[in-house]
Amino acid sequence: CGIIGRVGTDQAIDTLLTGLENLEYRGYDSAGVAVQNGSGIKVQKRSGKVDDLKRTIDSDDLHGEVGIGHTRWSTHGPPTDENAHPHTDSTQDVAVVHNGIIENYAELKADLVAAGHEFTSDTDTEVIPHLIQSYFDEGASAEAAFRQAIDDLDGSYAVAAMVADDHVIYAARQGSPLVVGLDEEGYFLASDVPAFLEYTDSVVYLEDGDVIVVRPDGIEFTDLEGNDIEREAETVNWDP
Ligand code: GLU
Repeated sequence: CGIIGRVGTDQAIDTLLTGLENLEYRGYDSAGVAVQNGSGIKVQKRSGKVDDLKRTIDSDDLHGEVGIGHTRWSTHGPPTDENAHPHTDSTQDVAVVHNGIIENYAELKADLVAAGHEFTSDTDTEVIPHLIQSYFDEGASAEAAFRQAIDDLDGSYAVAAMVADDHVIYAARQGSPLVVGLDEEGYFLASDVPAFLEYTDSVVYLEDGDVIVVRPDGIEFTDLEGNDIEREAETVNWDP
C-alpha cells in the first residue's frame, strides 16, 4: 500500500522508517524494510504497525545507504510476518516491495516452482524476486533481469527492487503511483509525496510504463526497453 526507498549518503534506515510513518495515513496491516548492509541484503518485516517493526530494528544490522520499505494492504494472503514485504528470492540476493496486484502471478509461480524455486509466502508479489533471480542466473545484468521480470507482469504495480551488493534501486510503475524526490544527498522513492516531504519538496512524478535506475550519483528515467525519456522535476507546494 505504501512504498519508500532511499539511495543517498546518509543512513537509509532512518529515512525509511520516517517515510513509513508518514505513509501510515494510507492504511496497512504489515510493514518491513530491506537495506544493503555491505554483506548483502538485510530484511526486517512483520505484521502490525510501523511502531512494532521499529522495536525489532537493530540499526547496526541495517547499516547502509541504500534501502527500500513497505506498508502492506493485503490482497493475496493474510497479514502474516511471512507475507509482509520486502520479498526475496531463496538466496536473499534480490529484495522487492510492491503495491498493487499481479494478475498472472499463478501461472508465473507455477513455472518458477517447476524450475525449482521455493516460495515462502502466499503473495502475488513473491514471483517478482524469483523472476529477477532466474534471469540473473541466466547471465543477465541486474538491470536487464529487472526489466525482463517487469515485462512478464500483467496487472497493476509500483515495484522497487534491489540486488545484493549493487548500490542501486530499480523501480517501475504501471497503474500504481510512484514519485521520486531529490535532495543534495541523494534520492527518495515513494508512493506519495508526504513520505519524504520533510526532506525535500523537489519531486518527479513517474508515469505508467516508466522504469527508473537510481544510483547514488544519478538517476535514469527510461521506458521498459531502456530508451531514455524526459521527466521534469517540479517543486511541490503541498498543503496537508
Ligand atoms: N498484492 C500485494 C500483497 O498482497 C501487495 C499489496 C499492497 O499493495 O500493499 O502483498
